[in-house]
Amino acid sequence: MEQSQFSERLRQAMGKAHLKQADLVRMAAERGEKLGKSQLSQYVSGKVTPRREALGTLAGLLGVPAEWLAGQQDVAAAKPRVQVHTERERTMREFKKSSKLDHVLYDVRGPVVDEAARMEAEGERILKLNIGNPAPFGFRTPDEVVKDMRQQLTECEGYSDSRGLFSARKAIMQYSQVKGLPNVQMEHIYTGNGVSELIQLSMHALLDDGDEILIPSPDYPLWTACATLAGGHPVHYLCDEQADWYPDIADMESKISDRTKALVIINPNNPTGAVYPREVLEQIVEVARRHQLMIFSDEIYDRLCMDGVEHVSIASLAPDLPCITFSGLSKSHMIAGYRIGWMVLSGNTRCMSDFLLGVNMLSNMRLCSNVPAQSIVQTALGGYQSVETYVRPGGRVCDQRDFVYRALNEIDGITAVKPKAAFYIFPKIDAKKFNIHDDEQFALDLLHEKKILVTRGGGFNWEQPDHFRVVYLPRMEVLAECMDDLADFLSTYHQD
Ligand code: PLP
Repeated sequence: MEQSQFSERLRQAMGKAHLKQADLVRMAAERGEKLGKSQLSQYVSGKVTPRREALGTLAGLLGVPAEWLAGQQDVAAAKPRVQVHTERERTMREFKKSSKLDHVLYDVRGPVVDEAARMEAEGERILKLNIGNPAPFGFRTPDEVVKDMRQQLTECEGYSDSRGLFSARKAIMQYSQVKGLPNVQMEHIYTGNGVSELIQLSMHALLDDGDEILIPSPDYPLWTACATLAGGHPVHYLCDEQADWYPDIADMESKISDRTKALVIINPNNPTGAVYPREVLEQIVEVARRHQLMIFSDEIYDRLCMDGVEHVSIASLAPDLPCITFSGLSKSHMIAGYRIGWMVLSGNTRCMSDFLLGVNMLSNMRLCSNVPAQSIVQTALGGYQSVETYVRPGGRVCDQRDFVYRALNEIDGITAVKPKAAFYIFPKIDAKKFNIHDDEQFALDLLHEKKILVTRGGGFNWEQPDHFRVVYLPRMEVLAECMDDLADFLSTYHQD
């Protein structure tokens, strides 16, 4: 390498790139590459020429070919920085997602949603009937909740106890007592960043590779996803559309093996809106009792029951069994974004003592849940419950449910069971009539043709391509428009 030509080209490239010596030293350090201050100043002054490695570093930083910098090519051969970066990137190894995610499905925010986002980015208006997030549809958080959180914000700057604030857990304990949960202790109550975090945490705490857990089909897919991610094997039992979507107890029991550790119920149910009566719950308890299973009950919609239906917590019927009940404020208090949920261990806690060590370990590892959101649990659970005005006749949730239920059943080729709670309905499509063999295609076709976004039944671990879920949170005018468009779409739809 010719010394003076190298230093001349180095200075030239630095000038072109508007980089000083100090910039190059800093950039090299940021990339974890060696380039000393005095070393660089000797290169620039032409006293020393660099070794191959340092030459590569400088060429990379300046975005010029190393050969040119070394004086071997014509000045014109210097390539722009961006190309050199691309070449470097091409030599980078590929980073793939972990294979643990290979069998994890979470379509509620899946490919059809991605397509809707792409269409929205291009300026299209999408009618979203796909996600149970109340706030964007005008369901407001009770003023008192917001006021109380604001008031306590400065006291919520530190981590809390990993299970949660005393005041929050006390309120949850009292709520659990009202619901008849037996043997609830403060140390068996855990707050989480939504029920979601606690589903994941409890699945990791319980399941060894290959352990089986019974989960409903259709399900809220996070349960199946988290059980899979934890190494477990979700086994789906059927909920029977002909029987108001109640669990098929015979099917549930037939799927139990010697590896089955637990069963999950979602009551009130997402996506069907079913609420299980006491007799059905008693039968499920019997199954769990016979086969020594733990019961996980997701009851996040328990305060959104309609038609005077009473919600019964399964844990209240199983004082001798290990039960975990999940609930939170995302839906009943329209604060899905604040992220606050909880789980309560009840009944036979003695047989869960080792599992509890695992739960504690994982709870400690995430330090604690969102403390400002914990600070309003007491306010939210006590006193006046504004959600009741939504679910009684004349209230938005109830009226919208009635409207959607009627409108769907009026469409030729659609039938739907009336939901008793929450804000979802899971209609059946006559797959023969429309020749539907791919429900994702159905959702995509509806999206492309009518700009309506729904979630396909398969997204809820429903095997047949003959259902989809509608969220009836949008206002009546929007729902009416959607139902008209859906009827119009189905009047000619036929899958190839
Ligand atoms: N469980 C069910 C049945 C749900 O439908 C949802 C959200 O839609 C969740 C849990 C998650 O709730 P959170 O917001 O508390 O994480």
